[in-house]
Amino acid sequence: MAKGKKPENGVCQKNDILTLEIVDMGNEGEGVARIEGYTLFVKDAITGDVIRGKVMKARKHFGYAKLLEILKPSPCRVEPACPVARQCGGCQLQHCSYEKQLEWKEEKIANCLRRIGGQAVVTPLEAAAGNGLGDGSVSDDRKPIVMEPIMGMNQPFHYRNKAQFPVGVNGEGKLVASFYAGRTHQIVEHRDCMIQHPCNQILVDAVLEYMEACGVSAYDEAAHRGLVRHILIRVGVHTGEIMLCLVINGKSIPQERELVDKILSLDLSQIGKLRVSSICLNHNTEKTNAILGREVSVLSGRGYIEDCIGDITYRISPLSFYQVNPGQTKKLYDTALEYAGLTGNEVVWDLYCGIGTISLFLARRAKKVCGVEIVSQAVEDGIENARLNGIENVEFFAGAAEDVVPAKYHESGGTLRADVVVLDPPRKGCDEALLETVVRMEPERIVYVSCDPATLARDVKYLGENGYELRRVRGCDMFGMGYHVECVVLMSRGEK
Ligand code: SAH
Repeated sequence: MAKGKKPENGVCQKNDILTLEIVDMGNEGEGVARIEGYTLFVKDAITGDVIRGKVMKARKHFGYAKLLEILKPSPCRVEPACPVARQCGGCQLQHCSYEKQLEWKEEKIANCLRRIGGQAVVTPLEAAAGNGLGDGSVSDDRKPIVMEPIMGMNQPFHYRNKAQFPVGVNGEGKLVASFYAGRTHQIVEHRDCMIQHPCNQILVDAVLEYMEACGVSAYDEAAHRGLVRHILIRVGVHTGEIMLCLVINGKSIPQERELVDKILSLDLSQIGKLRVSSICLNHNTEKTNAILGREVSVLSGRGYIEDCIGDITYRISPLSFYQVNPGQTKKLYDTALEYAGLTGNEVVWDLYCGIGTISLFLARRAKKVCGVEIVSQAVEDGIENARLNGIENVEFFAGAAEDVVPAKYHESGGTLRADVVVLDPPRKGCDEALLETVVRMEPERIVYVSCDPATLARDVKYLGENGYELRRVRGCDMFGMGYHVECVVLMSRGEK
């Protein structure tokens, strides 16, 4: 493959130092520069920056450069609020104004829906500028969908209700628990994370003190030895309940009473009305990148915490998915509910339902909701949550949506129907076997909640080719300072 020293791409080669104008931002928020049509990605640079960068990798069609110096800052550039923003893998966009972050997220959704989904979509900004709207600039005769304005956060810091800190040892042999540096498993030592809940540091410190005092080892990934792998903390911001869960490479921890007493005696009153209501262990003895194992044991309190979204209370177990940004979750679910257009007579299938969060939201306005979820503990939470809230018109099925829904459809002899289907899959999107069955169930409306616009667009394309039309699109920022993008879309049956 090697072709000597001449750059294959004819533009630049490794170690070149170049002046670059950042003209766009890529999938993970990294800056994009173009030289003679060749693309260079520059982490930590944003649209409008002019920088000096060093080429680190030069592939045939694109390469990567490292930001050395900002020659002219973008008007959207701001001072990061966190001193380790650049090293840490937790945030990618702290150097970008929040307003610009939202604009970029909207563009990302629109671009995916256009390029991958083949949809005529414009952002609110493009619409305001008259791009593609009634000015003859749209090449086909479709009237473009104008996205509804992205729902941003009032305060994009300290919003997360869940943290998973890897535990390790620093250069001086001291125990540390913090975040991984971007794309590595190197722990960046840092306190006072700007996006986490402020109670986390107090809990983490207490766990590390317990570990020091009782001689408890941190897990060493490379050697697959040592005990404590991660510290998982979840806060129910509306109930004040906190769960502390240690992920361990083993069955038990030494002197567990020490840990429990220490944690329960912590004074959290300076932060708010908080109390640790659950301390548990998660057992993960596998040599794996996955953080959590399947088994959980309770050291103190209950094996779950409760939280509320609107006036519905949810029980959340350590293995269950729960949205990480409670302030925004309500907005996201309200949008999904609005798009579902329920009148009280509908049969709704909520696929990828987790602990039934959206299902219960919908159930009070629908005739019946059926939820499908792969994690059995989440399904148990869902059943309990329905009971807790006195909601009786919900039924949950455990299993992969792409297995359960086609199986139910076949069992019914092809008569299974839904009025509305809600899809809220993980980043990889929906399996085609599922989408195929959803189309056969002939729902009037499909509400798709997505945490990855690229897979959303792929699935929208499939549904678009099978009788559904895109009607509404709206972003919701669940991950301020990060590059992840959440959105909700409505599709409904096209006119025949
Ligand atoms: N709607 C829920 C959960 C969304 S996250 C909420 O808003 O809280 C996606 C969920 O899909 C997770 O709970 C995950 O466990 C589940 N999941 C992942 N793959 C799945 C599959 N193939 N079938 C069904 N559920 C799946």
